Amino acid sequence: MSEAPEVQPLRRRAADAALGRAPFDILVVGGVVVDVATCELREADVGLIGTLVASVHPRGSRTDARRILDATGAFVAPGLIDSHMHVESSMMTPRVYARTVLPQGTTTVVWDPHEFANVLGLAGVGYAIEASRDLPLRFVILAPSCVPSAPGLERAGASFGGDEMAAMLAMPEVAGVAEVMDMRGVLDGSARMRAIVGAGIASGKLVCGHARGLAGAELEAYAAAGVGSDHELVSADDLLAKLRAGLTVELRGSHDYLLPDCVAALKALPVVPQTLTLCTDDVFPDDLVEKGGMIDLVRRLVRYGLDPVQVLRAGTLNAAMRLQRPDLGLVAAGRTADLAVFDDLSDFVVRHVVAGGEPVAMRGRLTVPLRPDPVPSPTDTMKLAPLSPIDFLLSVPFTEDGPIALNAIRGARFTQWSRLDTTLHRGVVRLPEDVSVMAMAHRHGLADPKPRLAPIEDWGHFRGAFATTVSHDSHNLCVFGREPADMALAANALIAAGGGMAVARDGVLLAVLPLPVAGLVADDDPPAIAAGFRAVKDAADQIAEWKPPYRVFKAFVGASLACNAGPHLTDVGLTDGGTGEVRPLVIA
Ligand code: FE
Ligand code: FE
Ligand code: FE
Repeated sequence: MSEAPEVQPLRRRAADAALGRAPFDILVVGGVVVDVATCELREADVGLIGTLVASVHPRGSRTDARRILDATGAFVAPGLIDSHMHVESSMMTPRVYARTVLPQGTTTVVWDPHEFANVLGLAGVGYAIEASRDLPLRFVILAPSCVPSAPGLERAGASFGGDEMAAMLAMPEVAGVAEVMDMRGVLDGSARMRAIVGAGIASGKLVCGHARGLAGAELEAYAAAGVGSDHELVSADDLLAKLRAGLTVELRGSHDYLLPDCVAALKALPVVPQTLTLCTDDVFPDDLVEKGGMIDLVRRLVRYGLDPVQVLRAGTLNAAMRLQRPDLGLVAAGRTADLAVFDDLSDFVVRHVVAGGEPVAMRGRLTVPLRPDPVPSPTDTMKLAPLSPIDFLLSVPFTEDGPIALNAIRGARFTQWSRLDTTLHRGVVRLPEDVSVMAMAHRHGLADPKPRLAPIEDWGHFRGAFATTVSHDSHNLCVFGREPADMALAANALIAAGGGMAVARDGVLLAVLPLPVAGLVADDDPPAIAAGFRAVKDAADQIAEWKPPYRVFKAFVGASLACNAGPHLTDVGLTDGGTGEVRPLVIA
């Protein structure tokens, strides 16, 4: 990446300031610099000119500056770099997301706007670029590679092939190909994935991966095909295998139970690999606001015993190297002045955050206004008319009353085909007590919006209904329940709101979280989004008795992941991501 033209004149000023011929714009004094190149902690002051670090010099040796930032007793580290994430999971627009994570010390995020792309196509990627421009949080945008995630088995708002990928990669803002989820396609050399990965390699930009469950020959093949990273770890052995395969690992915070083992495995190596980076991937709004994103992962890794300097190195310099961004990731002269100043290296209380030379946050609060959004948010994405309770009656028209056998989905996250033997009465299926209904209505205006329905088993007894337009990855309107009236009520609340999540019971809406931007995110205060999300989550726990290993809620938004093996209901019907088949509702 070539340097922005406005940086060049700064370099002369920075060199003059470093030589003592001119004062610094900002001087960060009294701190200990976390040198993630040498892995030393050094007492040093840091002088800034414009967007640049101009000098890192002995403490107290300079006092001439327009502004002093007090880091007495604190640790001056590079700003955190999140190496793989989706802003959409926060249910916030990029501006609101920036407001949330900048005070947490994150200054760069590598964003795969995969959910916006699935709803809006190339316009969604364009929106991601425009809505994240000129914010103090640096967004490095990647080009979504799997739109839709399960081609032929679901209809998203668009479909990307090699041409779309090449068009995105030609944009200067796009840094590479985002997580290549169609692992089968890569291994088998499907035309679509050859075109997509090939476009990435031809562009000279990054090709990022999602290598869930790949090992041995398949892992080698995935890397040989040109994919360079992974974040889908399932064990510490998997972490080592991926590092040994030469992939950059984006170590993810979401599966906390894996992290202690991963830390132990990393500590057993002669060095913590420079190909280790840190990422958040998907963090829901309540966790992002209350616990934090990258900062929470940093804290946990240190708590699990990894050396804090190694953790910070992974979360800064290693990510910058992967991104081919020599301007980032280090507190050193000539680099961009992205700084996170921590009170200590155990709790990582954030004292100051400097982004691109500008102090932007102090003690957990943003201290600068963020510019208004430069483009209108895409809000008109519910392309369907209100639905009626009849749309949610599991019925089989033109069939005689009596015994009937249906294909059903058993389980939530790891699903299996099941056969439901029941009866048909006046064309309507009699649902046994412990069987509920999942419905999926196409909402992108590219197909018939009449909901597809299927029986689901093993979810316990539903009292009420849950509806969501966050339904990975095609984000059609997905509704769960037993009572058609409640299902229609929840669905229609979302059609009216422009998308979001809703819970209804006994004819009453218990909670609605409007997510009017693409039906995925909202432009609201972070605490308000977090509170609205928590209200929906709590209400969802009330209507379904089905309980952990993970909460009801996660199963609701993930039950539609048609690219996974096993049966999934999509707007096409009952599909199986493992075999590629579409089965009819009625078993003949
Ligand atoms: Fe992934
Ligand atoms: Fe991801
Ligand atoms: Fe997704």
